[in-house]
Amino acid sequence: MDKLISKIRDIPDFPIEGIVFKDITPLVQDPTSLRLAISELIKPFKTKNITAVAGMEARGFIFGSLAAWELGVGFIPLRKPGKLPYDVQSVSYELEYGKATLEAHVDAINPGDQILLVDDVLATGGTAKASCELVEKLGGQVVACAFVIELALLEGRKQLENYSLHSLVKYS
Ligand code: AMP
Repeated sequence: MDKLISKIRDIPDFPIEGIVFKDITPLVQDPTSLRLAISELIKPFKTKNITAVAGMEARGFIFGSLAAWELGVGFIPLRKPGKLPYDVQSVSYELEYGKATLEAHVDAINPGDQILLVDDVLATGGTAKASCELVEKLGGQVVACAFVIELALLEGRKQLENYSLHSLVKYS
């Protein structure tokens, strides 16, 4: 995973002071690293009968849709509020400061769908946990959550104890 680590750029104090932002744009810019990240993300799930991949706006769309492509399944965008044009189901959750909401179309998931959830970064786990809830509200089953980066010190794993978790690069 050294190849991937070398393509993840630390941006101190973004978007607010005290946060070290993990910038994945150099990684997705480099074709070899992008292909490596996607193939490693989906590796444990190739034989798990995944029927759809769901990804969180916005960087989850990049990795999630490519993972869906490689698995030969469809992609479900979990979006910020007010973006989706049809009827939605939503889940609200606490952030470090304030609240956030994710939405999906009510018909985005077929009953019993086996979902792989994909995002770029697992930090506190709030976003991923809410995403799992949203998938389940819509009748899907979360097979696993997969992340390119896990910020282990923030203990997001604890929020996802009930789910299988896969991450490629761990920072502690
Ligand atoms: P959390 O809900 O705390 O796990 O935050 C996860 C979401 O916030 C993911 O969608 C990430 O894209 C983003 N995020 C949180 N912390 C960082 C960070 N240090 N660098 C880049 N993205 C982050």
